[in-house]
Amino acid sequence: MKISNSEKRLRQPIVVVLGHVDHGKTTLLDKIRGTTVVKKEPGEMTQEVGASFVPSYIIEKLAEPLKKVIPIKLQIPGLLFIDTPGHEYFSNLRRRGGSVADIAILVVDITEGLQKQSIESIQILRERKVPFLIAANKIDKIPGWKSTNDIPFLASIEKQRNDVKVYLDNLVYNLVSQLANLGFSAERYDRIKDFTKTVAIVPVSAKTGEGIADLLALLAGLTQRYLETRLKFAEGPAKGVILEVKEDPGLGHTIDVIIYDGVLKKNDTIILGGINGIIITKVRGIFVPRPLQDMKLSKYDLTPIDEVYAAAGVKLSAPNLEEALAGSPLYVIEDESKVEQYKQQIEEEIKEVRLYSDIDGIVLKADSLGTLEALISALQREGIPIRLADIGPISKRDVIEASIVAQRSKEYGIIAAFRVKLLQGIDTSGVKILYNEIIYQLIEDIKKHINEIREAEKRRTFDTLILPGKIKILPGYVFRRSDPVVVGIEVIGGVIRPKYPLIKEDGRRVGEVLQIQDNKKSLERATKGMEVAISIKGNVMIGRHINEGDILYTDVPKEDLEILANKYPSSITDDMREVIKEIIRIKRKEDPLYGLGLQI
Ligand code: GDP
Repeated sequence: MKISNSEKRLRQPIVVVLGHVDHGKTTLLDKIRGTTVVKKEPGEMTQEVGASFVPSYIIEKLAEPLKKVIPIKLQIPGLLFIDTPGHEYFSNLRRRGGSVADIAILVVDITEGLQKQSIESIQILRERKVPFLIAANKIDKIPGWKSTNDIPFLASIEKQRNDVKVYLDNLVYNLVSQLANLGFSAERYDRIKDFTKTVAIVPVSAKTGEGIADLLALLAGLTQRYLETRLKFAEGPAKGVILEVKEDPGLGHTIDVIIYDGVLKKNDTIILGGINGIIITKVRGIFVPRPLQDMKLSKYDLTPIDEVYAAAGVKLSAPNLEEALAGSPLYVIEDESKVEQYKQQIEEEIKEVRLYSDIDGIVLKADSLGTLEALISALQREGIPIRLADIGPISKRDVIEASIVAQRSKEYGIIAAFRVKLLQGIDTSGVKILYNEIIYQLIEDIKKHINEIREAEKRRTFDTLILPGKIKILPGYVFRRSDPVVVGIEVIGGVIRPKYPLIKEDGRRVGEVLQIQDNKKSLERATKGMEVAISIKGNVMIGRHINEGDILYTDVPKEDLEILANKYPSSITDDMREVIKEIIRIKRKEDPLYGLGLQI
């Protein structure tokens, strides 16, 4: 981790692994770590907190057979892999307008192609402007594939039968065309001419280790070539991001931090975001896992160090970290006069993520700034409105906000909780709380809930509405002149149903529809263009109140029209829209506010 200074030193790129569940993210990371552990020099530290370091000489050794294809002399010290795959964790690697991650591996099971979470990962990477390459995993599952453990892909492909090569190509092209649909040009990496324009696909097997050399060589080669400016190491005060806040036995509250620039020293003053405001504190201890120990961290595995250079993953102990906020930036303050400036910067970053408005939308609570941000953008992509989005456990205020919404728009009267709990003693009646630990599934749960409520409401309310309809009494089709009137009609527009009250063009009431019949069969409704017989009950007589050839409208109550226009706009057909305009004209004579301000 500590490397001698040189003028143009580059730091190690930070690599994240994303992809659909079961496509092999964990297995791939384990394989990379395993390969590194076997090849590293004794006593050398490759395990960090929340991350693993792959030194450059290991990459060079592995890539030796690939020299002709990827001729690299590495200037970067190595690659730093974030240990926990998936975008729950990735989201905390936030940095204003982007990510602390320099490059991502999108793991795709080549036999399955892109799936929902692969596409979601791509959207998140695009939003955070992180370049990525694709590890097309599980090539060992291709029918007829002959695996040789731990050899480069380019060596392994040489050993395959022709029909197997063709099979692989077909799978690769399936991926290429899926990516093209998302607006990316992609190609198998050894066929790419311009890496700035094409997403590289590296066929690998996380199980057998085939292609791991290609993947590492390409990651290293691409980052040092295209991200040079970003990777320039500054010898100044450290900048980092908080990945996780933990309570460690013996150490109290600690934070796991990824340092992406500069140097962090023991006793440095640091500034970071907290749940209830900015925290300024002094670093009491910097810890990394003890070399050659198991990768699982407990307090005995940690060893203190005095300083650390970017890029690195470390655990920090310091006073007042109880309320530290995962996903928050962390800066070393080297100069007291800059405190205010840093404070404002962090405050603004946090403010940008938290949301509050008075609209009817859901309440969202998450455990960290990063997950909150990822959830907000996923909800925005789905067009789901948000009233309140904040960090921390579910409080009384959240329940009150959700119940206010529930009274007006029941479908949004929910609290979506991501890795947070309900504070004790809070009455949550009338408010639905959805819990899920996976971003993608929480969003699915929210969508499902909203749809269920909407469908139920639609069935209930829509069916009780008196909808706009316009009919004409057909001349020559009077079957009964009164008590009840029975006439043949044509529906000119909209819809009529039994029990709908009717009015004339001058607005006067003329009874209500009793029955609708077509060839002696009773109908529940008649719509535009239908010619049917209806009975009309009430104090109404043909020749006195109404006549053959008359036009009648349904008497739509003001509230029903508002519900229709505001809640079910998609149920308004073009012919119904015309009828609505005519009804508004008629009803306005009595009530100037009828239909006012509605978007029809
Ligand atoms: P994750 O959910 O993306 O982290 O996926 P895992 O790494 O847990 O892998 C899911 C399953 O696929 C496990 O049973 C793995 O053993 C298996 N798997 C992962 N990579 C490979 C591979 O390259 N080849 C084969 N045959 N199986 C694999």
